[in-house]
Amino acid sequence: MPRLLLIHVAHETNTFSRLKTDLPAFARRYLHVGDEAVAKAMQGTRSEMGGFLDAAAEYGWQVRHPISAAATPSGTVTAEAWAALTRPVMETLDEPFDGILIAFHGAMVAEGADDAEGELLGRIRAKVGTRLPIAITLDLHANVTDAMCRHADIVVAYRTYPHIDQYERAQQAARLMKRTLDGEIRPQAVVARRPTLLGFDGGKTTVEGVMTEALRRADAYEREPGILVVSVHAGFTRSNIQDAGPSVAVTHDGQPERARAIAEALMDYCWDNRFTSSTQRTTVGEAVSIARRTDGSGRPLVLADYTDNPGGGGYGDATNLLRGLLAAGIEDVAVCPVTDPEAVEACRAAGVGATVELLVGGKIDPEFGGAPLKVTGVVRHLGTGAFTFDGPMWKGLRSTMGDTAVLQVGGMEIVLAASRFQTIDRQHFLSVGIDPTRKNVLVVKSAQHFRATFGPMARRVLTVDTGALTTPELNRFDFSRIRRPIWPLDPSA
Ligand SMILES: [Zn+2]
Repeated sequence: MPRLLLIHVAHETNTFSRLKTDLPAFARRYLHVGDEAVAKAMQGTRSEMGGFLDAAAEYGWQVRHPISAAATPSGTVTAEAWAALTRPVMETLDEPFDGILIAFHGAMVAEGADDAEGELLGRIRAKVGTRLPIAITLDLHANVTDAMCRHADIVVAYRTYPHIDQYERAQQAARLMKRTLDGEIRPQAVVARRPTLLGFDGGKTTVEGVMTEALRRADAYEREPGILVVSVHAGFTRSNIQDAGPSVAVTHDGQPERARAIAEALMDYCWDNRFTSSTQRTTVGEAVSIARRTDGSGRPLVLADYTDNPGGGGYGDATNLLRGLLAAGIEDVAVCPVTDPEAVEACRAAGVGATVELLVGGKIDPEFGGAPLKVTGVVRHLGTGAFTFDGPMWKGLRSTMGDTAVLQVGGMEIVLAASRFQTIDRQHFLSVGIDPTRKNVLVVKSAQHFRATFGPMARRVLTVDTGALTTPELNRFDFSRIRRPIWPLDPSA
C-alpha cells in the first residue's frame, strides 16, 4: 500500500501590510496540527485537504497529514511562525513515503524566505532526494518561482476566480500522483514569466476575457500527448519579492521542449494583454448616488470595497465608504465585517441594547482607506463569529470571524469583528442575525470572491475604490526587491 504525505500550509503575503503574520494569525483562521485534528476539520469539506483525503481513500493510500494551516492574507510571516508551520512537515519526513501532496497558496513570504514555498520544497528535496514524486496545488494568484517548479514534479493551479474548484484541483493532483506511482508517467514542471506584475485580467473568470481565453488555450494544450497540466497564474501583485507577477507552469511527461513552448506562448499572450482590466473603479461618491436609488426589486445593491479586501491583505477596516453612506443617510444598509477588536470589546463591555459612542475602523493605517469613524450607535448583537461555509467556496468548512458585535448606526448595521476576513459567504451575515437578501444595500470587503454568493442575490454589484491597502495604485508602494525593469512600475519594460 503506497504511503503518502499530505500537507496544507497556505498564505498569501501582502508584504506592504503593517500586520506581521504570526502563529496566532494562523490560529484565528485555522491551524490544525496532528493527523487526527486535520482529518476531523477537513474530511468531507470542499477544500484541497478534503480532496486529498477522499482521493487517498479511493486509491487505498496509507496517509499522514500532520498539518493543515491557513491565515487570512496579511504581512510577512514571522520566522517563528514559519518554523512552527514547517516543523511538523520535516519531522514527519523521518518516516518513509512514496509520494508527497502539498496544498500551498503559492504567494507566501516569510522572514528570511522570500520564496517560502520554494524554500520548503528545497528542504524537503534535501531530505527525500530527487526521485520521490511531489505534487503541489496552487491558488491562481500564486507567484510561481523556478525553485517551486524545479522541486515539484506536478503543479496544479485553481482555474476559477472566485475560487470554487479547490477540491477538484486537489483530486486532479492526486490522480496524477497515482499515475506516477503506477509507473505510467514521469512528470516534470516548467514555468515562464515576463517582466510584468499584472496580467490575465487578475485571473477573473466571471467575465469573458483574457483569463477565460487563456484557460481555453490551456485546455486545448492539455489534450496534446505528454502535456499533463497547464496552470495559468495571474500572480499576486502586492508582494515585494523577485518573482512576483503572472506565470504559466506546464507539467509534462517527457515533453520538456513542447512544455516550454506552451508556457512561453501563453506568457506572450499575457504580455500582449497586460493592459486589460475588467475591474470597474467606482468612486465612493458614485456609489452613494447609486445607493440613493432603489428599483423596487427588493434585492440588495452590493457595494464591494475591493481596495480593502482582506483576501489580498487589506486591513478590513477602511471607513471611507461607511462615511459616505452615513453622511448621505442611506437606509437599510449592512456592512460586514469591519475588523476592529477594540470596538468589539467596547460593545461587549456595554452589552446588547446599550448605546455606545466609539471610533470604528481606520486604526491600522488611516493613510489607506480613511481615518477612524466616530459613531454613536446601539449594540444589536454580540457573538463568537463562528460559522460554517455553505456557499460555493469552501463548503462545509468551519470558521470564525472572531468575536463579533453588530452596531446599529442610523440606517446602517455595522458588523464589527475581532479577526480579519474577506466577505465570501452569506453566513458572514446570517451568523450575526442579518439576512443579506432582505437589505437595501450590502457592503462587503472583497474584490471578486463575493460574487459567487452575493452576485446572484444582488440587484446590482459595484466595486468601489476607497483608497485602501489593496488599491490598484501600485506607485504607492516601494517595490525594492522585485526584478527590474517591470511593467507597470517601469514604462521601459
Ligand atoms: Zn486567489
